[in-house]
Amino acid sequence: MSAANPKERLQSVRARIAAARALRGGSAPVELIAVSKTKSADEIVPLIEAGQRVFGENRVQEAAGKWPALKAVHEGLELHLIGPLQTNKVTQALTLFDVIHTLDRPRLASALIAARDNGIALPDLFVQVNIGAEAQKAGVMPDEADAFIEQCLNEWNLPVIGLMCIPPADEVPGPYFDRLAAIASAHGLSQLSMGMSGDFEAAIAEGASHVRVGSALFGARD
Ligand SMILES: *Cc1c(COP(=O)(O)O)cnc(C)c1O
Repeated sequence: MSAANPKERLQSVRARIAAARALRGGSAPVELIAVSKTKSADEIVPLIEAGQRVFGENRVQEAAGKWPALKAVHEGLELHLIGPLQTNKVTQALTLFDVIHTLDRPRLASALIAARDNGIALPDLFVQVNIGAEAQKAGVMPDEADAFIEQCLNEWNLPVIGLMCIPPADEVPGPYFDRLAAIASAHGLSQLSMGMSGDFEAAIAEGASHVRVGSALFGARD
């Protein structure tokens, strides 16, 4: 499956996304987020040159070291934060990222509200749900998700557009994706950030609007 160069890998992933979308039916789009964590600018540029514009990073510090220079040179780049966000990094994150996928606790919501109160425009947000209720994973627990989402939307007026999850590693992911879709739908949220290199087709089948794909595009990480 491993195509020879970045451009071919991108074409192959895009073709697989298109096939999964066709199988799902309907016209809802699927955004490909190219996850470039641990990859150098030299490895990222070929994908930009092949036409990819939307990228994901999981660490604020790492993104700060790579993306301002790339954004200065390449038009139309969009950067998504897909990893945990510490409250003391919120201001920096808001200067770097166009979308944040990992809103998962009231303290982080408070920090975002404080930034907004200081005149900083907030980006689109996803609430991360710990859909498998795993001790080691971030995200609001499934049984607390409804209350937290409700608060984000109606009490705090945060620009939440959807939900994000990472299902348990060694299980069939479909039922977890389906559960996330059900929670989102109960709150009128249409955007679902779910699916990685190993399971993005299954995620699209369950309604993913954003897939986060790293190794299938860049090759394995060290
Ligand atoms: C690393 C990462 C991905 C991409 O994983 P691959 O298996 O390399 O596609 C997606 N989502 C999150 C939150 C990640 O940290």
